[in-house]
Amino acid sequence: MASIFSKIIEGSIPSVKIDETENEIAFLDIMPCAEGHTLIVPKKEVERFEDMDPQDTASLMVFLHRIAKAVSSAFGGVDYNVILNNGVQAGQEVMHVHYHIIPRTERSSRMFGNRKNASTEELQKTAEQIRKFLN
Ligand code: AMP
Repeated sequence: MASIFSKIIEGSIPSVKIDETENEIAFLDIMPCAEGHTLIVPKKEVERFEDMDPQDTASLMVFLHRIAKAVSSAFGGVDYNVILNNGVQAGQEVMHVHYHIIPRTERSSRMFGNRKNASTEELQKTAEQIRKFLN
């Protein structure tokens, strides 16, 4: 069965997209740890990071680097975590490789606590802000 991220990629499930290439997509996490929490997903569905084609990981990293720069710039050069939960014991819930970019401030909790659902309107506004910093 296709993962929820494959459904987002094919367009059968909505998302608040930041950007995409032929091989990757970036969209906002629906249950953000912080404003700007962004997911970076390879379009080819692979469950585990080490099972990806190495060439695809190189492409993914270039895309991740570009989006991370835009997310940080969008919030005044904010600090951030880049996290990849690989496998259930590592906290992976969606079995389709993805990186999280999570903005962090002094007041941030360090783990996935204090989250609440964001409205599509709030997410759209945030996505617009990040897109301005894409180059
Ligand atoms: P992980 O625990 O690393 O597998 O993270 C999966 C992430 O996907 C979680 O932070 C979820 O909030 C997020 N997520 C699940 N479904 C959606 C969706 N439809 N749109 C955006 N983010 C989602």
